Amino acid sequence: MAKVALSGKTLPEIEEFIQAMGEPAFRARQLHSWIYSKQACSFEQMTNLSITCRQKLASIAQIPLITLSHLQISKDNTRKYLFALPDEQLIEAVLMSFTDRASLSACVSSQVGCAVGCTFCATGYMGFTRNLTAQEIVDQVMCIARESGQRIANVVYMGQGEPLLNIEEVIKSLHLLINSVGIGARHLTVSTSGIVPGIKRLAAEKLPITLALSLHHPDQLTREQIVPIAKKFQLPELMRSLRDYANATGRRVTIEYVLLKGVTDTPEQAHALAELVRDVHCNINLIPYNPTLNAASKMPLYGRPSLAAQMAFKQIAERTGKTVTIRLQRGADIDAACGQLHNKLSSQGPCNNTSCS
Ligand code: SF4
Repeated sequence: MAKVALSGKTLPEIEEFIQAMGEPAFRARQLHSWIYSKQACSFEQMTNLSITCRQKLASIAQIPLITLSHLQISKDNTRKYLFALPDEQLIEAVLMSFTDRASLSACVSSQVGCAVGCTFCATGYMGFTRNLTAQEIVDQVMCIARESGQRIANVVYMGQGEPLLNIEEVIKSLHLLINSVGIGARHLTVSTSGIVPGIKRLAAEKLPITLALSLHHPDQLTREQIVPIAKKFQLPELMRSLRDYANATGRRVTIEYVLLKGVTDTPEQAHALAELVRDVHCNINLIPYNPTLNAASKMPLYGRPSLAAQMAFKQIAERTGKTVTIRLQRGADIDAACGQLHNKLSSQGPCNNTSCS
């Protein structure tokens, strides 16, 4: 009989489980604390539980659901994880350390592969395999905390997959991170390529989490070439959903914009971007592309704009009065962009996802 996975269960679910085991009710809080606060990875560690209880738990339940398959650590201490799921699928996650502990961020995957197919992304080339469960999403955060010995301050859903195409499990995982792991909602960010029904569903939760839109181009037709799913959701509808999200949650949206040399980085596009988001409550995050080779042609997919072009773009975008930042590249000496490590280890060739770079 398959063991029950406990690492993604809420306190009421653990209480139900403990009751069914015939254990006293207070065991549920002990178990909950061991799983989420102390990040235990075996029942043996739970020393305030009786030996009989621990043995019984080990025979019918398991924590965690995922296992570490590979780890890369960069010179800037970015840690890239390849995790194996129970069905042997592989997913990636990244821990980014900045100058202070408060900005320690885990970047997690929400799907195995991705159906969106963004042209600059390694995961997009893998295709879609399946959605992750809320447990598998939360397990990534727990495993990263355990391996690194650090308390995770922020979680960003910017790894493999389109989170809003797995919206119900993502919402369940957000509630677990807030209520069980103890990460404040304001320290959670969900990134999307622009799935309007998912944005509306997330807004309905009224959680003060940050929504990040991977916009990447201010023109509908060109955007469709970079982010193919954009064909389904036109920019006016998308911008309206962002305004509604900001109104419902009180949170400023983040506009993610990848700077591809000669494709998305011209002054005209900077003006068009500023105009498009003028009445959206947002910040703008510019992501200079990190060139990698196309697996088939062995040629770079896109070029990286010069520093001067990046700064010129930023200055124009800043005329909206919005905060505009240029994302620092993390983990440059490892396969830190989402999909790269998986592809390398499964011999599918290197690609690029700007989300975690
Ligand atoms: S960038 Fe995100 S949404 Fe686009 S293909 Fe990659 S994983 Fe999917």
